[in-house]
Amino acid sequence: MGKVDEETGKSRNITRRDFVHGLGLGGTMLAFPAGMTAFASEGLSPVNYPPLLTGLRGSHPGSYEAAHALARDKRPIKLLLEADEQYDLVVVGAGVSGLSAAHYYRQRFGAGSKILLLENQDDFGGHARRNEFHQGGDMRLAIGGAQYLAHWRFSATVDELMRDLGVDIEQLLATNEFRSGRNGREGSAIWFDEATFGVNRLVTGCDLAGNIGHDMPAAIDAFPIGEEARAQLKAFYDKRTNVLAGLSRREARRYLRRTPYNVFLREHGGLNDEAIELFQSSSHAFWGVNISTLSCTEALVNGSPGLHLLGQGATVRPHRAREGFFPDGTASIARLLVQQLIPQVALNAHAGNIAAAHFDYSELDRTDSRVRLRLSATALNVRRREKGAVVTYTEEDKIKAVSARHCVLACNHSMIPFLCPDMPEAQKEAQRYQVKVPLLVTNVLIRSGDVMEQLGINGAYCPGRMHANFYMLKGISNSGYTNRMSDPGPVILSFSGTIAAPQGVADVREGFRQSREKMLDLTFADYEREIRTVLDGMLGPAGFNGDRDILAITVNRWPHGYAYEYRDLYDPIFPSGKAPHHIARLPWGNVAIANADAVASAYLDSAVDQAYRSVQELPAS
Ligand SMILES: Cc1cc2nc3c(=O)[nH]c(=O)nc-3n(C[C@H](O)[C@H](O)[C@H](O)COP(=O)(O)OP(=O)(O)OC[C@H]3O[C@@H](n4cnc5c(N)ncnc54)[C@H](O)[C@@H]3O)c2cc1C
Repeated sequence: MGKVDEETGKSRNITRRDFVHGLGLGGTMLAFPAGMTAFASEGLSPVNYPPLLTGLRGSHPGSYEAAHALARDKRPIKLLLEADEQYDLVVVGAGVSGLSAAHYYRQRFGAGSKILLLENQDDFGGHARRNEFHQGGDMRLAIGGAQYLAHWRFSATVDELMRDLGVDIEQLLATNEFRSGRNGREGSAIWFDEATFGVNRLVTGCDLAGNIGHDMPAAIDAFPIGEEARAQLKAFYDKRTNVLAGLSRREARRYLRRTPYNVFLREHGGLNDEAIELFQSSSHAFWGVNISTLSCTEALVNGSPGLHLLGQGATVRPHRAREGFFPDGTASIARLLVQQLIPQVALNAHAGNIAAAHFDYSELDRTDSRVRLRLSATALNVRRREKGAVVTYTEEDKIKAVSARHCVLACNHSMIPFLCPDMPEAQKEAQRYQVKVPLLVTNVLIRSGDVMEQLGINGAYCPGRMHANFYMLKGISNSGYTNRMSDPGPVILSFSGTIAAPQGVADVREGFRQSREKMLDLTFADYEREIRTVLDGMLGPAGFNGDRDILAITVNRWPHGYAYEYRDLYDPIFPSGKAPHHIARLPWGNVAIANADAVASAYLDSAVDQAYRSVQELPAS
């Protein structure tokens, strides 16, 4: 992982010194345990407002241990015979799917329905998570997990939910200056690090997609790689022959679906192993895997280069639509849903101010509320009853139980066999098929974006590092929050990627499991060291100094990230209606099943559609 602590400044202990929200707190600062921070205004602190927390977030320490004790250690649970509370509906999981399920339940069964949502993390939204920073003065919002609204694929159901929530996609698109999101088209760069390439070198004005406007040959000349790989790369970007010309359209489509992208690069791109290795992690942020596990179709659709070798009638069309962004990603949708379910949490919040609205978390779980959202509460068992279900859960190390007429499981499907051991074996087997993709989103607040401007970059691809990509999160102004590209002052650098599975793991889902273990094993200090190594190595020569310029770091770990989407190279074509997700989501008495896993598709709209379906499947009584 590169430099030792003394070199990176880690030994200066950023967790205490720098993770303090609001400069100028002086002597009034409250003392918090390591990893927690004080917030300057109105007595707020991360204790009662989790979006302020820095350090290890996402799947944070304390959130998953109870589930792991059940699922991994097979620790028996003491089931309670009597429920402490009764509801119409209990929802397991307060991600977008669980929150939407509560919304649709009220539509179907009436706004007076008594609903309890159980969530094992200390914040709601699941992957729709926001990070809030105040260390440099004005609030800076960052996207902790899910980023954009893929509005072009919304169903009528999701369009209607957006209307109900007051979300105007056209307005989101019209107001944003933000363009990069993933890899950055303008001002992008590649950073070669010393540990991997023998030298620290930032090559600006290029990306591996070889976008028009980039002088690729000049950039490639600066790549610290062997002469042969360099010449081959130049020839690859320059080549204009249709390499599949001898195949029919059908055969070409089949080839592209069956052939690993790295094989295509070797056989038709003329690249050697060293050149191909440069591309390996370019798919980390978007797919959570190395490119060698992607088919050509999967890689090309998401912008990996190669379409220029397929001629005019290429059977693959790259994704071109413009994504809709809130400043905190899809967290704004989760907040709007919570506000609608429990208005007193943020009385005057609406789509026009949701990003800036403050939420009072003490209102989430009040006894006098029809809808209650209980954080840090992990469901451990769900039993069917003749007319309903009993859910056993743990909160603050105590075992508790609630009963309800209906239950929706909106958690990841791989957890359900442990929650419901009595479910049919075939259904549990299908649920186990869903192995979510581990992903990392690490947000770093730096004192200013001047150094990036000076270098003419808004992000970079880092082929040798843990976070394969980073970009400057700037220029999203809507819903009450303004952050213009031209604004001076602190800026968020958002790093994304995954911890790649060890080489030689044959099965992609086994790779995810191993990658997850590594992700959970790393401490905050490990992630911090990595960030400092990258920023000092890349931006240091232009005057950046991590000790001085890094104000805060929030690591959003998502060991259970994207829902598993069937892969060209690893999954059969399932008979219609018989794919694992069809079997996994079958209703079970008064228990219905939601979550994006239920359609094997890692999108917000999938989570919403599945919530809708699950609620319609519940028996009327
Ligand atoms: C890094 C990242 C980036 C993404 N980017 C995008 C994007 O740009 N656009 C997009 O549309 N989608 C994106 N996604 C996909 C995202 O998964 C979906 O958009 C959506 O948020 C999924 O919602 P969900 O409710 O189905 O699942 P989750 O968000 O996973 O919610 C499930 C919830 O259940 C909880 N839970 C699990 N087990 C238990 C238990 N036993 N007891 C209580 N609670 C439990 C979990 O903690 C979690 O909060 C991204 C995902 C990740 C990880």
